[in-house]
Amino acid sequence: MKAQDKVETVIRGPQSYGLAQQALDMMQGAKVWPTPLNFELWLYVAGDPKGELAGEIERLIAEGDGISEEMSEELATRYLPKQRLNEEIRDTGDQLSKELASVSDAIRMAKQNNEVFGRTLEIAGADMDAAADPETIRATVGRLANATRTVHEQNARLEQRLADSTAEVGRLKEHLEQVRRDATTDSLTNLANRKAFDDELDKALSEADASGEAVALALLDIDHFKGFNDSWGHQTGDQVIRFVASVIGRAAAPPSFTARYGGEEFAIIFPAEQAKIAHRVLEEIRGEIASRALKRRSTNDDLGQITISGGYATRVPGESAESLMERADAALYASKRLGRNRNTKSEALPKTRAAAA
Ligand code: GH3
Ligand code: MG
Ligand code: MG
Repeated sequence: MKAQDKVETVIRGPQSYGLAQQALDMMQGAKVWPTPLNFELWLYVAGDPKGELAGEIERLIAEGDGISEEMSEELATRYLPKQRLNEEIRDTGDQLSKELASVSDAIRMAKQNNEVFGRTLEIAGADMDAAADPETIRATVGRLANATRTVHEQNARLEQRLADSTAEVGRLKEHLEQVRRDATTDSLTNLANRKAFDDELDKALSEADASGEAVALALLDIDHFKGFNDSWGHQTGDQVIRFVASVIGRAAAPPSFTARYGGEEFAIIFPAEQAKIAHRVLEEIRGEIASRALKRRSTNDDLGQITISGGYATRVPGESAESLMERADAALYASKRLGRNRNTKSEALPKTRAAAA
């Protein structure tokens, strides 16, 4: 079950009031105002104390600056995804349709004005035909000049309105793109996030179904990372996660797809031809990470080395995403059990009943 769903279940379960009380206590401890938004955030922290949101809040508090309302907003957009995102998209959508409604009003007005102008011209034409005296002609020409000026002015206004509107629509479009990027990108590493990964895996499997091509899926997990954090602190740990992500991103460039799957866990989808080189790429990542002597930027402390373990599985035609994930995960687990700092392929494991089925 996904962390989000787990929390949803917990806050509707028997422990819910205790959890709510805990959330309030934690808010008081963190010295944030009991706004509905903060309550929502901390309810999730209480419901999933080891989750990403809890980790991020812990980190922010450790940095000592406290959590401002803007930070709460940002945390909510990042970690309470669906609802908030939908709200943001809906708001932008509302603005867009208002903009479009006002443009079509302006165009309708302009059309009416042009029709009025057309009728003015016809009448003037008839008046001129019938006119004998210069007085009538002068008056008619005067009316024509006025009508022409009005239409010019209206057209100029319409043009301005359209230009403003084009700019506004461009701005909204940019905003929507930003929202979409934020929704699919992990902010620490800039790799795809879990949600984007889930979507991409489904897409890759449908494409493989259509083309008959292979797909390999790898899961990677930093070794003994809890100990690293305990020794060097969470912030330095975050730097290491960024470093690992950059190595993974470089080694598994598109068309392979890389994601931060969880805290210190990563996933790679190797589509089609890439599936064949999965092992080589994983070994390259492993070697690069293990060979690097890490230093803490701020103090130049030697942090020693870290290692990473991987597991991967090549899809059996028609295999579901769940089964493929399960096999990659079992292979990763085998790497851990066999001593870490290694990559294992699912196919090398003794067949379990699930894999044989
Ligand atoms: P192993 O995977 O080798 O079995 O050991 P591990 O210590 O890495 O195991 P585990 O998966 O249980 O622990 C993961 C740890 O990673 C827990 C937490 O301290 C750390 N971690 C998870 N997410 C983050 C994060 O976003 N930032 C930092 N700094 N640390 C994180
Ligand atoms: Mg882990
Ligand atoms: Mg680990």
